[in-house]
Order: sequence, then C-alpha cells, then structure tokens
Amino acid sequence: MPAHVIDGKSVARQIELEVAADIAQLGFRPGLVAVRVGNDPASEVYVRSKAKKAEELGLRGSQRILPEQTTQEELLAEVRRLNDDPDVDGILVQLPLPKQIDARRIIDAIDPAKDVDGFHPANVGGLHLGREVLAPCTPSGCIRLIDSTGIDIAGKVAVVVGRSDIVGKPMAALLLQRNATVTIAHSKTVDLAAVVAGADIVVAAVGRAFIVTAGMIKPGAVVIDVGMNRVDRSFASRLEHDPEKRLLLEKNGSVLVGDVDYVRVKEVAGWITPVPGGVGPMTIAMLMRNTLTAARWRRK
Ligand code: NAP
Repeated sequence: MPAHVIDGKSVARQIELEVAADIAQLGFRPGLVAVRVGNDPASEVYVRSKAKKAEELGLRGSQRILPEQTTQEELLAEVRRLNDDPDVDGILVQLPLPKQIDARRIIDAIDPAKDVDGFHPANVGGLHLGREVLAPCTPSGCIRLIDSTGIDIAGKVAVVVGRSDIVGKPMAALLLQRNATVTIAHSKTVDLAAVVAGADIVVAAVGRAFIVTAGMIKPGAVVIDVGMNRVDRSFASRLEHDPEKRLLLEKNGSVLVGDVDYVRVKEVAGWITPVPGGVGPMTIAMLMRNTLTAARWRRK
C-alpha cells in the first residue's frame, strides 16, 4: 500500500488558525520585523510573505529594507534599535547577507528573547540542553508534521540526513528531546543507505535531488523531505517514473524536487511529505508561532 501523504499546507493552516485564535485572545498585537539587506529576489519574496502572513494572522508584521551596501556597523545598529524597541517581539534577519557583513555577528547581536528564527547561540545551546527555547522554525515544523501522523516519536530510530545549523542539528536535538534514538548522517557518512535503512523516521535535509532512494527506506517509515532542489532538463532521465514532475519540467524548463525520490519512496514508506507542499509551508507557520511565544515570554 502506498504511503499516506502528509499535507503540509493543511497542517500549517491549522497552526496558523491556532496562532490567530491565540492572538485574538491576547489583547495586543505582537510585532514581527523582518529585516532584508539588498535585493536578492528570493529574499524579497520570503521577507514580504513573512510580513504579510503576520498581518493576516493579527500580528503587526513589517519589513525593514536596507540597501545592498549597508555596512556591518549599520546593520548592527539597526538590530540594537529593534532589540530596544518595546513594540518589537520578534526580529528576523533574512539570510544570506551581502559579503561585507558577517552573518554570525548579526545573529549574535539579536536579543535571544526576540530571536524568532532560533539561531542565536543562547537559543541553540538551550535547545541542546533540552530547555524550552525559541527553536528554529523548519525543524519545529518537521516535528509537527511527524506528530500529525499520530505516530509516537519516543523510542523510534530517527535518522537526520544533513547537519546544518539551521535544519539538521536542531532537527536532531528536537527528535532527541522527544526521546527518539537519533543518528545524524552527513557528507562524510560512509554508507548512507545502511544508516537510513534502520530508521523509523527519516528527515532528509541535504539539498541534493533524490539522494534518498526507495532501496534505503524501511517499509512503513515516516519520511520528511526538507530538501528543495530546482532541477533542469539535465535531470529529465531521472524523472521518467514521475509523469507529473516530467510534465512540469517540459513545460517550464525546470521543476522543484526534494531530496527524496518521492514517487518510488512512496511505495515503501508509511508516511511521506511531498515537495512542494510538505515542509515548506510549515516554516512560516512556525515563525508566527515563535513570534507569539516570544511576545508571551517577554511579558511574563
Ligand atoms: P546545507 O547547509 O547545505 O547543509 C547540507 C547538509 O547536507 C550538510 O550537513 C552536508 O554535510 C550534508 N550532505 C551533503 N552531501 C551529502 C551526502 N552526499 N550525504 C549525506 N549528507 C550530505 O543545507 P540546509 O540549509 O540544511 O538545507 C538543506 C536543504 O533543505 C536545501 O535543499 C534547502 O533548500 C532546504 N531547506 C528547506 C527549508 C524549507 O522551509 N522547506 C528550509 C531550510 C532549508 P556536511 O556538513 O558534511 O557538509
């Protein structure tokens, strides 16, 4: 029997409705400021959609757009100003930043209590100590997707493929907090297939199309695909079994695929997220949830 598809759009919508309902009860509108430096087209879309979603749910969402040539000192000054502004509950600085700016120094300057991306070392450290912190949005979203299957994470063997600071490592920490037995695989892992084969839960966060194949997956496993890879016609031969993606590729010249060979893995897994429409919609929803949490904690 093919896997159940985990509908990220519907889970994200449910979280957004919860957030909107909580905000309506709050008596004030938490403020989220998304800072963008320069004109990277992807960042423009992300920042605009985050601010728009915030407004839609009853938060005060705004964008701060700074020119491409902004210096590190100028951006640090802006971050400090937002740290000191009592009306701002959440600050996010959209990455990547122009090359004259050291992203780590900027992240370190954000007040951890307003760090709704969960990237500040104080939040990262707290997460690994099992404390209640503002955790990074994409991995928190993955946990919600796994929970939506009704499967209990405790005691399961979980393999996270990828060890980035924003996805892989916090994902592993969150799974460990939920009492999974966790392995992290990365580019130096010798036999990825053997590592993944034992997993009841697989989270793929690599950024390589179809690195996770059906032969690696334990029957019935939960497969969460974080990867977002835009492939062009040179990938066509690997999409022969996927008429839907192939059609999109022929029509548009490129198509978005995950790290998981979705069509084939679906035949083996118990649960699977599609790309797009799986993890993607969760990130913004969890950002809204984090902003609400930050607003509550700051007023405790
Ligand atoms: P990243 O910083 O490039 O990290 C990729 C990780 O994959 C690294 O830890 C790397 O290992 C590992 N890796 C590379 N080749 C591998 C291999 N052959 N076998 C096993 N592991 C390998 O990427 P990221 O920021 O975590 O993002 C990963 C993917 O998720 C990307 O496609 C990105 O677009 C997507 N993403 C999606 C969302 C969303 O909202 N849906 C959010 C964030 C990211 P090393 O550490 O050894 O180099």
